[in-house]
Amino acid sequence: EERVIQGESLVGEEEELSLRPQTLKQYIGQTKAKENLAIFIEAAKMREEPLDHVLLYGPPGLGKTTLAHIIANEMQVEFRTTSGPAIEKAGDLAAILSSLEAGDVLFIDEIHRLPRAVEEILYPAMEDFCLDIVIGTGSTARSVRLDLPPFTLVGATTRAGLLTAPLRDRFGVLSRLDYYYPEALTEIIIRSAEVFNVGINTQAAIELAKRSRGTPRIANRLLKRVRDISQVKGESAISLSTARVALDMLQVDKIGLDHIDHKLLLSILDQFNGGPVGLDTLSATIGEESQTIEDVYEPFLLQKGFIQRTPRGRIATEQTYLHFNRPYKNSTE
Ligand code: ADP
Repeated sequence: EERVIQGESLVGEEEELSLRPQTLKQYIGQTKAKENLAIFIEAAKMREEPLDHVLLYGPPGLGKTTLAHIIANEMQVEFRTTSGPAIEKAGDLAAILSSLEAGDVLFIDEIHRLPRAVEEILYPAMEDFCLDIVIGTGSTARSVRLDLPPFTLVGATTRAGLLTAPLRDRFGVLSRLDYYYPEALTEIIIRSAEVFNVGINTQAAIELAKRSRGTPRIANRLLKRVRDISQVKGESAISLSTARVALDMLQVDKIGLDHIDHKLLLSILDQFNGGPVGLDTLSATIGEESQTIEDVYEPFLLQKGFIQRTPRGRIATEQTYLHFNRPYKNSTE
């Protein structure tokens, strides 16, 4: 089932490329990460050295890939990209590394999913810019050390906690991306509308921002759907009322929750009396994988304070009761 408000990209969203800001200045929000990177980039340029390896982490759709592109752009170097699941064998990564030019940015998305044997190739590559490769097999096998040009590894992950310590320790810059404030998302939506060459009323942009779960990718996706409906209605600019109707049609509620969030929260309220309920029980009850609940649905609900994790399981908060117009029952007592 395709979920409109998921942070991961959906099939056919490759045209997103045109929406990507190209410079740190154009990159909206994430002030802390941006300020940090700006300093490191400037210092590296002054020293005429490649930038230190950078780890970007945070939920999907917040702009990790975009930021990686921007780093290469600001450093005026080439951008090479791959991902953890795409590299199966140590040799695959060795081939990529040995084809790099001095200063290049190598972006590895979902870096926590690199197989361990592949990851081990990265340690000397990141630390000493060299590759240890084994030639031959059995008793004639010997190890050869190859020099690599200095490069910058930019890793992205949604699960920083899954990174092994030796890998994490080799990054000089760690940057966490957070969900965006509505003001920043409004700005992103207005900018994207310009790229799409469609007008949008400010109130409509604010409404979209409120319902986008703090995630630029979701904001852009909702904008596209709303634009279609607005165009069919023959509007010259997307109006607030059309934005509302379109978002209701997409079953995205006032604060960006959809039917799956509703199912999950209502299950805690109605079937488990507000909780606590264990993840596996919840998973069985609503028919969604535990892993998916934990990685995809829960982070936003936790961040917004709709659920709390306790040692005995998930509980609904006062806000959840309020959102669904139910009298509050305190589960923490
Ligand atoms: P991630 O790699 O974290 O999943 P992406 O970098 O692919 O996310 O970003 C998803 C989309 O959101 C991009 O197409 C980009 O247009 C938009 N986007 C992300 N961050 C920003 C930002 N700070 N300003 C403007 N647009 C952004």
